[in-house]
Amino acid sequence: MKSSILKWLVLSATVLIGLIVVVQLYWLTKVYSFEQKQFNTNVVKSLRGVFEDLEMNDNPAQSLQQLIHNPADDYYLFKADTIPEQDSLTFYIRKEFGDFDVLTDVKLGAYSSTLKKYVYEDYIPTAASGFNITTAQGLPVFTGEYDHILLYFPHRSQYILGEMNFWIISSVALFLALIGLAISLFYFYRQKFLAEVQKDFVNNFTHEFKTPLAVIKIASDVLAQNDISQKPERLKRYASIIQNQTTHLQNQVEKLLKSASAENKKFPLDKENVQPAKLIEQALNKLQPLIEQKQALVELKVDNYETNIQADEGHLELAIINILENALKYSISPHIIVETGKDESDYFISVKDNGIGIEKKYLKNIFKKFYRVPTGNVHDVKGFGLGLNFVKRIIDGHDGKIRVNSLPGIGTEFRLLIPF
Ligand code: ADP
Repeated sequence: MKSSILKWLVLSATVLIGLIVVVQLYWLTKVYSFEQKQFNTNVVKSLRGVFEDLEMNDNPAQSLQQLIHNPADDYYLFKADTIPEQDSLTFYIRKEFGDFDVLTDVKLGAYSSTLKKYVYEDYIPTAASGFNITTAQGLPVFTGEYDHILLYFPHRSQYILGEMNFWIISSVALFLALIGLAISLFYFYRQKFLAEVQKDFVNNFTHEFKTPLAVIKIASDVLAQNDISQKPERLKRYASIIQNQTTHLQNQVEKLLKSASAENKKFPLDKENVQPAKLIEQALNKLQPLIEQKQALVELKVDNYETNIQADEGHLELAIINILENALKYSISPHIIVETGKDESDYFISVKDNGIGIEKKYLKNIFKKFYRVPTGNVHDVKGFGLGLNFVKRIIDGHDGKIRVNSLPGIGTEFRLLIPF
């Protein structure tokens, strides 16, 4: 499967999972408000029954809505022309609540407007209730104008949630299944990504080693000719080709070995006083064959040899080589400006090229191991995607920073900042 299709599939699946979660949450809130309404209806029906059982209101024409108030979610207050006996009120409430499936604890209080207090309070636990009995809390006074009965449901929310057990359990199961699916998708995508990285690596590896080996083979065939000693110019040229190619191979092997051995570890740095100008000169010398091959113009704006910084000479030189090599590799006719100097509390080494540049969206990835900017047909420069990861680890080891400025088609600047 092509990685772009896979990317879209994973993205669509993620959006779908997100949508399912949102819809499920929407339904859960809907069911909760439906259960709330159902509870309310059942309480009102039960109270109507209690009214009738106890004949608590002298005016039968008065509608239930006028008699029952719901001052807060957990409280129901109903007007009583006569306050009934505690035992009979408790008995009928228990009976009506049982008939209408209001199976949660209730605390009741009969309020007398003349005495301005509750004449009695009672707590009716239900057999089905698994909650602790909470009788200690006194009932609040909502109105003092008329005699009334106040009902308080201390566990109303838990009871309603309990009624939604099926929905909650099925939603949790669905969420768990979705999380499992998302994790599998993530691992599948990562596996696929790693497989592609591996494929690219093998391709690049083959190219990086096959070409120099083929060149060495041709050059050594030429050197093996009988009359070569009579052509000293030719001999020298082919010997130097072999020399350059073996140096290149050596560098590549060193890169791979270092990358494998220093896996996730900090580089063991050996800091001393080093002159950046000298490091740049050495790096340029090592890259001389590539500079000649690319007919590159290298401009130096390097400060004098007096400046010293605290750094690991070998590693910092390797970092500079990698940056310079990239500037040469990714420019068609390279014009490179190398600049050094002080930048507040840091010492900077900047390498600016006029190469193909890097699109902004790729910049955050270029320091990752094995990462290579997908270029399609723009160029076929080979590499392992290890160079910049190396540079970053070296600069991190120096507690430094790397700044990259790049414009596609114009060029790139890598600025290494090392604490001065
Ligand atoms: P590589 O071996 O591919 O060169 P690097 O880690 O050195 O690996 O670089 C990672 C990627 O960053 C490269 O594949 C390339 O696309 C991009 N890159 C690095 N330096 C430059 C540059 N100077 N100009 C343009 N692109 C660059």
